Amino acid sequence: MLAPMTHSYHRFRELTWLDLTFWAGKEIVADGRDCFLRKEVTQVSVTESNGILAWVASEELFATLVEYEHGELYSECTCQPIENTCVHAIAVIIELIVHLKKNISIPRAKSNDRRFYLL
Ligand SMILES: [Zn+2]
Repeated sequence: MLAPMTHSYHRFRELTWLDLTFWAGKEIVADGRDCFLRKEVTQVSVTESNGILAWVASEELFATLVEYEHGELYSECTCQPIENTCVHAIAVIIELIVHLKKNISIPRAKSNDRRFYLL
């Protein structure tokens, strides 16, 4: 049976370390994992399009959005990465996957969420 549309952010769970490395490169994945382990990701929420929106409290507070559509990852972050993506996006993906594995429910982002304006 197909998963209900409202839960299609569950597809992030398919992602492997290899997928993440292919997308972001070894160093960004390693640094993103450290960022996750330091518990810098907060207020993970899911967008209308089943992307992930979160705050990442690293050197400063960043708003990060990650989309995963048709097997393609895409991210936006207020750190304005020069590369394809940034450590914050990796940390956010790991945080979401951990939430899913622990069955922790994830709230929907409100349309007026401040993070949308920052991105
Ligand atoms: Zn970033």
